[in-house]
Amino acid sequence: MDLIRHHVAGQSTGSPERTGPVYDPATGAVQAEVAFASTAETDAAIAAAAAALPAWRATSLIKRADVFFRLRHLLVERADDLAAIITAEHGKVLSDAKGEISRGIENVEFAAGLVHLLKGEHAEQVSRGVDVHSVKQPVGVVAAITPFNFPVMVPLWMTASAIACGNTVVLKPSEKDPSAALFLAKLYEEAGLPAGVLNVVHGDKVAVDALLDSPTVRAVSFVGSTPIARSIYERAAAAGKRVQALGGAKNHMVVMPDADLDAAADAAVSAAYGSAGERCMAVSVLVPVGDDVADALVEKVAERIAGLSIGPGTDAASEMGPLITREHRDKVAAYVTGAAAEGATVVVDGTTQRFEGDGFFIGVSLVDRVAPGMKVYDEEIFGPVLGVARVASYDEAVALVNASPFANGTAVFTRDGGTARQFEFDIEVGMVGINVPIPVPVGAFSFGGWKNSLFGDSHIYGPESVHFYTRSKVVTTRWPDPSESQISLGFPSNH
Ligand code: NAD
Repeated sequence: MDLIRHHVAGQSTGSPERTGPVYDPATGAVQAEVAFASTAETDAAIAAAAAALPAWRATSLIKRADVFFRLRHLLVERADDLAAIITAEHGKVLSDAKGEISRGIENVEFAAGLVHLLKGEHAEQVSRGVDVHSVKQPVGVVAAITPFNFPVMVPLWMTASAIACGNTVVLKPSEKDPSAALFLAKLYEEAGLPAGVLNVVHGDKVAVDALLDSPTVRAVSFVGSTPIARSIYERAAAAGKRVQALGGAKNHMVVMPDADLDAAADAAVSAAYGSAGERCMAVSVLVPVGDDVADALVEKVAERIAGLSIGPGTDAASEMGPLITREHRDKVAAYVTGAAAEGATVVVDGTTQRFEGDGFFIGVSLVDRVAPGMKVYDEEIFGPVLGVARVASYDEAVALVNASPFANGTAVFTRDGGTARQFEFDIEVGMVGINVPIPVPVGAFSFGGWKNSLFGDSHIYGPESVHFYTRSKVVTTRWPDPSESQISLGFPSNH
């Protein structure tokens, strides 16, 4: 069986001492084993990143930018190969895998503008003969820890900006679909990135803890579930590191009575069941305002999902693939089977749909009358399950969304500009869509939720990532006129 190994200083490393299975979710078969890094192996990757740092941070900005221009080209050229790798280990359909690659390319395009991004500020004559300027310097070695659900896009969220800013990186991708990160690291090197600037270690908590505990690692970017995000944030921050830890989500889509209900139903179906609901920006709760809207929407969504085609991601006819593991599939099913006992109404029960073979497939579910206090409403399910939480008014909708401990994304569907503007003003969520169900910001903006969806103060990619991956240094300069030289023991004043 193939062993997927680490990529350190441009070399394939790692022993088969501790490994984990990598499944093909469409068949349920183990297709490879992935090496789990020990503390020593992770430390070796950190050392490789530290060794590559001085030369990389001294590389001219134009040469650095060149790597990103070439990487963009390679990503476009190899998109089919990369999508095939994503689908083989994650299970999502190929078109969706290509979609994630194209969104990741936005981060590479952003990074290619690094000469502009790294410009500092300058103020002349702040005092007589004195100027001040600021520069942005890399923080050093950065750890990037990523989830299974976007094996290319999320590593690109982190690595593109971190590397552009002159840092070197140890990437620890999800052990469930580790191959895409390796492919990416090799593409970076093919694009001209020196070996050691981007290293990949695979594994579990052992590797992550080694990254968090190493004094050489100066910043940690994490994306994953809320409990792990919280613990990563606490441990890294306690060690004095800069940290951004993005967590889970429960995204509400509010539908006002004046909305185009057919468009809203199309959007809800796409956003709830795309990628089998394994997206942190998936719509998981529909919030129709008024029972008439709710009844109509439930009917329209149920009609639409009856015809969804579920099958292997490699099959062009499939609109939705399997879930990532058998355990996850069973956990998702338990939310649906338990919903009726909690007082919700299961309108479409996807758990009863049968599939041939041992793949981790599940049908799509629609659960009406979910409410706070029910597990099916309160918890992130991360599967193809759409809840409907009925409310009577706009104010009730806003109160419901704002009471959620998660605050990644939300959307309002309405034809009324005033309502949309008020929603934008009132809602306590990091990313908001106005008639846009999945408002993932384009690469020139930054991505991030509030509350339990992000620990730390910097959102990821875009302008906030430049802030996160650099340290500002402010230089005060004086070139005195030798004829004016004098001794003064007073505190330097600017007057
Ligand atoms: P996860 O939290 O299980 O794993 C994320 C990473 O942490 C992986 O690399 C994993 O190996 C590592 N990890 C797991 N357990 C650990 C532990 N005990 N100690 C240290 N490291 C550990 O998340 P996942 O299941 O891979 O991904 C799905 C989750 O990610 C969902 O909750 C989803 O909402 C979230 N997510 C959030 C965003 C966002 O931008 N907010 C984006 C994508 C995914």
